[in-house]
Amino acid sequence: MRKLFLLLILLQVFFARGQKINDPKIFADLITPDKLKKQLYIIAGKDFEGRETGSEGQRKAAAYIENYFRSLKLQQGNKDSYQMRFPVYQDSLEVLNISIDNHHFNIYKDVDASLSANYTSLILGSEVVFAGYGISEGAHDDYKGLDVKGKIVMVLDGYQPDVLQDQLNKNSFNPYGKQGTAQMHGAIALLSIKKDFPHPESSRKSIMYLNPFKAVNYINTYYISEEIARSIMGKDYDTAKNGHVQPKSYNANIVLQFIKSIALLQSSNVMGYLEGTDLKDQLLIISAHYDHLGKKDSTIYYGADDDGSGTVSVLEIASAFAQAKAAGAGPRRSILFLAHSGEEEGLWGSQYYTASPPHPLANTTADLNIDMIGRIDPTRKRSDTANYIYVVGDNRLSSDLHPIIESTNKKFTQLKLDYKFNDPKDPERIFYRSDHYSFASKGVPVVFFYDGSNKDYHKPTDTPDKINYELLANRAKLVFYSAWEIANRDNMLARDIPLGD
Ligand SMILES: [Zn+2]
Repeated sequence: MRKLFLLLILLQVFFARGQKINDPKIFADLITPDKLKKQLYIIAGKDFEGRETGSEGQRKAAAYIENYFRSLKLQQGNKDSYQMRFPVYQDSLEVLNISIDNHHFNIYKDVDASLSANYTSLILGSEVVFAGYGISEGAHDDYKGLDVKGKIVMVLDGYQPDVLQDQLNKNSFNPYGKQGTAQMHGAIALLSIKKDFPHPESSRKSIMYLNPFKAVNYINTYYISEEIARSIMGKDYDTAKNGHVQPKSYNANIVLQFIKSIALLQSSNVMGYLEGTDLKDQLLIISAHYDHLGKKDSTIYYGADDDGSGTVSVLEIASAFAQAKAAGAGPRRSILFLAHSGEEEGLWGSQYYTASPPHPLANTTADLNIDMIGRIDPTRKRSDTANYIYVVGDNRLSSDLHPIIESTNKKFTQLKLDYKFNDPKDPERIFYRSDHYSFASKGVPVVFFYDGSNKDYHKPTDTPDKINYELLANRAKLVFYSAWEIANRDNMLARDIPLGD
């Protein structure tokens, strides 16, 4: 209430000066360093535990953003919900077991396996076929004369020196690897002998992933120690290892057991919708990702700049537009305030949104995406100004956008607009590395606002005390003023490139 009351006094002052209600400066000035700071200490605080996709901390952050949108009286952005939920998956290793003739071998000491590449399976075999290095390429075939259909195949690690040289010369490695080669010959499982056992204990949880369905499933591969190889081949193993490879079949009663569970986790994008006036069927999106890296053991990765700074900017820009609307100066086009998750895992949230958009992309005039705008790139401290922002992608899909950003900035925010990451030859490929890219790849014009990297990037030390709040507020205002112009101008932004599918 207090905010609105103050706003009314403010408006009276402006009217007294003859200023118009549709002067964006009245509302841009509601975006203050103090408000952004207060929000960022919550978003990047201990309670949200680094906001890892699929985690409790991420869901708490989503609930906080949803409540904030609701307090601004924004409408639900995804039909009847503020959240667009999407599934993510994670594997956990339950059992990895090999025994040979009733002798059991221990995980990590003698056996290991890739969690993501293998599936739950139990095989009891009475024969193991040793297939040398397991290579079938051109004239060279380790499988020549062997029948491995339905059998367990065992191979040496690496390549024969002459075969390796030949492969390097031709630069033609079998893309399916030894696993695919064994499978093409009909094998049911692959044992790959490694000399680096024991392996360190590793996490029994995989990284998260978005799609559990594979067009091709390969046979399981078990990494085994030399001790296991000897228990199958006896002295033949040392002969083979020393260069006298003799493919051959061995009798052994072997148990191969791999069990994993797949957890279905949930993540979400949080979306608040501000309905426009006469052009309400057209939409402007203002986005940032609220997820970060979570915590490892008890260490929290706070993600204050990445991308707490963008998230709180979206919140306060939304607040400014909501107050403009309440004062009768709402935008002509509708605006969707879109907080993505899954960005750090590979732009999942924005891919999910653009794959099944609740608001048609054909009517979406642009996505203004903010990812890291609260700090100063250390390389700039030696250059002309720290009062800058990197602007990326503004000229790639619509020739209307670049002039709007330039003139808006000239009139209101006077930042140095630096386009170095918009160079198509940018070695860091920044244009492809945040959520706006999901929109750009569908033909929606985008602008990406970014501060460059810093020494705390993706470290637990990316904390809110290191943010320059004055600069953050000024950069957020640039996005606000640009959005004001884009949402109120007569025409949607021209599309130089037609909308993709
Ligand atoms: Zn980020």
